[in-house]
Amino acid sequence: MKKIKIATDWLEACAGCHMSLLDIDERLVELLKHVEFSSSPITDLKHPPKDGVDVGILTGAIGNSHQVEAAKLMRERAKTLVAIGDCAVFGGICTMRNFFDTKDVLRRGYVESESTVDGKVPESEDLGELLDKALPVNQVVEVDVYLPGCPPSADAIYFVLSELVAGRRPVLAGEVLKYD
Ligand code: SF4
Repeated sequence: MKKIKIATDWLEACAGCHMSLLDIDERLVELLKHVEFSSSPITDLKHPPKDGVDVGILTGAIGNSHQVEAAKLMRERAKTLVAIGDCAVFGGICTMRNFFDTKDVLRRGYVESESTVDGKVPESEDLGELLDKALPVNQVVEVDVYLPGCPPSADAIYFVLSELVAGRRPVLAGEVLKYD
């Protein structure tokens, strides 16, 4: 049986959702018989390959211009796009900054934080520009499957991946559908 290709990326996120993916533990070994992870934040290849993937997974909200591009690239190259975690699905904790001006947000983060001495807001063309608001993924690109949770459990992620491997669109209900 041909393996399905999966690419993952994280946007404005902590690593929690990807850690939950790794928490699938030994079931990963079984999954890897059917799945090839082509790119991820923890592999050499960071972006989905040009010839595309079957499943693209995004975690995190979209908070800057680089993340807009990363989400669009994933959408363009993935047949099925899965948003994993509250940040990707709803904007999650990232949206707490949406009540404030971006200049104040940057100053608070880089200059005024309690652990910072002589901080300054970084300026570089290499850095993405902060959007006015952090957005859930579906406000930038179309999403096919939503898995909420902060983070979703490893069981829920395993369920979604297993369904996709079986060629089915996952239908989330009961224990795997958790808002927290
Ligand atoms: S949903 Fe929770 S665990 Fe996942 S990236 Fe957001 S804050 Fe982290």
